[in-house]
Amino acid sequence: MHVRGRLLVGGEWTAAADGAEFTTRDPATGAVLGTCAQAGPADTDAAVDAARRALVDPAWAGLPAAERARLLWRVAELIERDAARLAELETRDQGQPLDVARAVSVQGAAEHFRYYAGWVTKIEGAVSPVSFPDTLHYTRREPVGVCALITPWNFPLMIAAWKMAPALACGNTVIVKPAEQTPLTTVHLVRLCEEAGFPPGVVNLLTGGPETGRALVAHPRVDKVSFTGSTEVGQEIVRASANDLKRVTLELGGKAPSIVARDADIDAAVQGNVRGALLNSGQVCAAYSRFYVDSRRADEFTEKLAAAVAALRLGPGLSPDTQLGPLVSDDHLHRVDSLVRQGVADGAELVTGGARADGELADGHFYRPTVFSGVRDGMAVARQEVFGPVLPVLAYEDEDDLAARANDTRYGLAAAVWTRDLSTAHRLAAGIRAGAVFVNMPAIPDPAAPWGGFGASGWGREMGSHALDVFTETKGVWIHHG
Ligand code: NAD
Repeated sequence: MHVRGRLLVGGEWTAAADGAEFTTRDPATGAVLGTCAQAGPADTDAAVDAARRALVDPAWAGLPAAERARLLWRVAELIERDAARLAELETRDQGQPLDVARAVSVQGAAEHFRYYAGWVTKIEGAVSPVSFPDTLHYTRREPVGVCALITPWNFPLMIAAWKMAPALACGNTVIVKPAEQTPLTTVHLVRLCEEAGFPPGVVNLLTGGPETGRALVAHPRVDKVSFTGSTEVGQEIVRASANDLKRVTLELGGKAPSIVARDADIDAAVQGNVRGALLNSGQVCAAYSRFYVDSRRADEFTEKLAAAVAALRLGPGLSPDTQLGPLVSDDHLHRVDSLVRQGVADGAELVTGGARADGELADGHFYRPTVFSGVRDGMAVARQEVFGPVLPVLAYEDEDDLAARANDTRYGLAAAVWTRDLSTAHRLAAGIRAGAVFVNMPAIPDPAAPWGGFGASGWGREMGSHALDVFTETKGVWIHHG
């Protein structure tokens, strides 16, 4: 298999103006999987021009809401028609096990388009009770304009859908920029948008690396940037967009605490935490990645957790019995491994894992799921986002300190609490500073529920009606009729 990807600019599929290309590899084997055009400054200008023209083209700006809704619905249907191909492509390019690609990535993308298709006809303004005599005031929800949608490599198809569906539902035009490690399913999704019948220039695609992202963020005629990725790049985007005060939404890193209370059902907590920590080999922004366990239950929890993760079958995502796939790249594997080495050097006890997989998996980027015990709050493995299969266990004595310990982080994306006591659940749900708190369950997004973070985990919320707020501007119209 060798997939070729071109740019989509104003309805035309083209090579980069300067002919530049880059390759993407299969993380399970290291083999080259595809070649994509690498957009440069001339391509960025052309895409922004096309998106600006499409924004006011009656074919898009004048399209009745019900027609716009049909286009989004059609994309959902086309994703489902191509589900098998998309899932295989996601697994090959990103590494995730095929059942994760099917159930989370592909189905999640289709559901997002369907959910926002439903919203298109319900984006309402309001009549405001102004106190001027003989004056009618009403609000209109208008598109923000040209939106640059920049996505990461962990769930490329699904995260592209998280952004494209609400942006298009609100009448914006978009330029999608997938991560250079995993562009292929986004290329396919953009093709499906074309097939669904979006007018030329409404959906544009620029593949490329950080420079392509930078050029979009710096472009004076881009109105909004919606970015999912690392906190460091999020900070750079905020600085770069200050020049023209672009609208910016950021979904960034996380270091989700998972609190296992004294009364928790330990077997259920182990199972749920394995899923919450190791979906997509831990390459999940909301992955449970520091475990605060009541000291009276910590040994039992650690032992069972280590046994459960060690029993997971590591292998290529396309093998039907694989439960844990490879990490996305060799660079990322080395980053994960160096944080594990740091954990050992800091004095944490390595209970299981702690090394790259060898033997027949040696060519891919496979890392053994790793459990640490005896971890203390200050250690790097308890503070830094690992974005890999690494589970540090910290014991606690005093429940009263828990919220403060969970909140002692720059992040605030997600958190989990495992307890059978309702008052513990509600107290911690209220006390923990995070965009989502999950009680007795793994972190699962749903198009209807807000997604986003406190602090360095980002700005704004995606999903639900919240995404409509960040993809529209509110205009007030005043009419004097005296
Ligand atoms: P990254 O920040 O390196 O890259 C993300 C995207 O930004 C890529 O498309 C990249 O090409 C582009 N980019 C890089 N530098 C840029 C710049 N200066 N200007 C504009 N664009 C630029 O992130 P990553 O390594 O691909 O993804 C991992 C990170 O994403 C983790 O920190 C993870 O927590 C975060 N993430 C967050 C969420 C969420 O919903 N909060 C979801 C998934 C991933």
